[in-house]
Amino acid sequence: MKLTILGCYAATPRTITNPTSQVLEIKNRMFLIDCGEGTQVQLRKNKIKFSKINHIFISHLHGDHFFGLIGTISTFALLGRTTDLHIYGPKGVKEIITLQLRLSNSWTTYDLFFHELESTESEVIFEDNRVIVKTIPLKHRVYTNGFLFQEKPGERKLNVEAVQKYDIHTAYYQKIKNGGNVTLDDGTIIENEKLSFDPIPPMSYAFCSDTVYHEAIIPIIENVDVLYHESTFLQSEEALALKTLHSTAIEAATIALKANAKQLVLGHYSTRYDGIERFKAEAETVFPNVLSGNDGVSFEW
Ligand SMILES: [Zn+2]
Ligand SMILES: [Zn+2]
Repeated sequence: MKLTILGCYAATPRTITNPTSQVLEIKNRMFLIDCGEGTQVQLRKNKIKFSKINHIFISHLHGDHFFGLIGTISTFALLGRTTDLHIYGPKGVKEIITLQLRLSNSWTTYDLFFHELESTESEVIFEDNRVIVKTIPLKHRVYTNGFLFQEKPGERKLNVEAVQKYDIHTAYYQKIKNGGNVTLDDGTIIENEKLSFDPIPPMSYAFCSDTVYHEAIIPIIENVDVLYHESTFLQSEEALALKTLHSTAIEAATIALKANAKQLVLGHYSTRYDGIERFKAEAETVFPNVLSGNDGVSFEW
């Protein structure tokens, strides 16, 4: 699983920072999460192929999370894209995008599918044979969802020594990988555990931005491997966080701790601060495994 942060600062783009956007690679799938202004430039800078992006998830309709969407959609068309593109986002995202495409008479060269969200309960919004994506309803000034990406458990691994020892025909290998037992010609049943190893445990990633401190998300993200949680403010601005429905670094860390996350990644920093070191330092007073998200930074797990 690889996370590339294209932008992780709040509010306005600056020469030195970008608004929210990130790319998650999981089980050879690539998902674009949020699409702040400048996302397509950041994709180019980080050498991420446009053609690999088929699914874009938009958390909410504040500009710092989706003002790059129309530009990205348009560029894909100018480059002659023909592959379908799926957009998952709050109800209204279809109206906004199609209005711009219609008035500029710039319809896409590919099919654009909108999956509009309005539920306040967590729901499955994407599923294939490798990955499942669920919403994480957040509490912010407008309707907002985080997204939980979960790998599906893979096949069991064949114990080559064991299958040779029992002289098992290759025709049974797939059955063993699927967890099945094997009956030998003399009627002996060989338990699957003797013929295979456990699969690599599936990984999970939760993206939670923007939100006030919101314990209702804990049951949804419980035991997640990696939690990206917004930390717009430091503790000195705790009251402002509450007022604007954002979180502090300590609140992000508290959610990580209570949800038993393995790793916390911070981001959505307010641009009022010089540097981001203090976010990590404050979060680490509550939760040990903290990474500072930053533009152009990749993490692999
Ligand atoms: Zn924001
Ligand atoms: Zn917002």
